Amino acid sequence: MNPPLPESEDPLVSLFLELARIPSPSGHEREIVDFLTTRLRLLGLDPQEAEPIEDHPAAAGNLYCRLPATAGGMPVLFSAHMDTVESEAGALPEPVIDAGVIRSGSRAVLGSDDKAAVAAMVNTLEQVIKEGLPHAGIELLLTVGEESGLRGAKACSLDGVTAECGFCMDATGPVGGIVVRSPSQVTIRAEFNGRAAHAGVAPEKGRNAIAAAARAVSEMELGRIDTETTANIGIIRGGEAVNVVPARCRIAGEARSHNDDSLEQQVTAMLDAIAFAAAHFQVDAQVSTVDEFRGFDLSEGNLPYGLVERALRKIGKEPVPVTTGGGSDVNVLILKGLPCVNLASGMEAVHTPDEHITIESLKTARQLLLAILEQALK
Ligand SMILES: [Zn+2]
Repeated sequence: MNPPLPESEDPLVSLFLELARIPSPSGHEREIVDFLTTRLRLLGLDPQEAEPIEDHPAAAGNLYCRLPATAGGMPVLFSAHMDTVESEAGALPEPVIDAGVIRSGSRAVLGSDDKAAVAAMVNTLEQVIKEGLPHAGIELLLTVGEESGLRGAKACSLDGVTAECGFCMDATGPVGGIVVRSPSQVTIRAEFNGRAAHAGVAPEKGRNAIAAAARAVSEMELGRIDTETTANIGIIRGGEAVNVVPARCRIAGEARSHNDDSLEQQVTAMLDAIAFAAAHFQVDAQVSTVDEFRGFDLSEGNLPYGLVERALRKIGKEPVPVTTGGGSDVNVLILKGLPCVNLASGMEAVHTPDEHITIESLKTARQLLLAILEQALK
């Protein structure tokens, strides 16, 4: 038996610990969605689950609910994702608190990305309802499949949403950070189709798909291309046996940039490298590209940015504009027409077994959400 956790008398901390114990890798959010549905119903809310984004019993859909306004002002949307990255096989978080810091207590990833935000948002609603705090309308959107390509956010419809702006909390670093700049990302996949042949008896009859793929990758400029642009090939798969000229090989990678022209140039250069290598080795190459998300660059005067700046100062925190190389649900929500900002929750070393968050950060995140609601009042 673990000793009782002294700090967990704060319902926010206990809720976070409960969420962290529920495994919810992308595509397997059923259990956490059921847990949160019950929790929100206990508040008298009517959470609605969207269609699951995958077709199996462990999958679930986005969760959405609304608190009607009790005062005048601007309705807002809070959003966080319920899924996590996959942990090492078999590892489950057994969260522990050590000197005010919450860690996974195992080889598993803690999942404060993004359950710290989920807990802070749900607990904020609990506090608003229980204490009858005035607000101008709150909508809560908890997404699935964020880590597997923002799939929940892409699938969600904002048709019924009345909020004028949204606040996601899915950035690393101390509370106070506001993501003001995020890149666009394109995924590139190529399948090289050559011809199989016996490697010792008739190699000249073969067309080596692995050689073509390797040449394509070696022709590409990868890594940090310029101050705004990065590129990577992250997957290569092919071949059947050492004595067979391989007929098939697949590669997949990505390019990101804060500058759409540079992004287009980089993607074109990678596609050219694939075409060149395919021609050189006389193999066929099937190529596909997907616009994963569009970047953004929040200008001054952006509605949610201004509001969160005031809220941060109100709680004694200095707003810190942050540029990120990553995408999040925010990129998708902005593209769908909802002005949004992505806020830091205090989570650190995310996606690793060392992922952690302090109790202080959790409480500050809740304080910030409450301050946002206050600032949204008329
Ligand atoms: Zn996240």
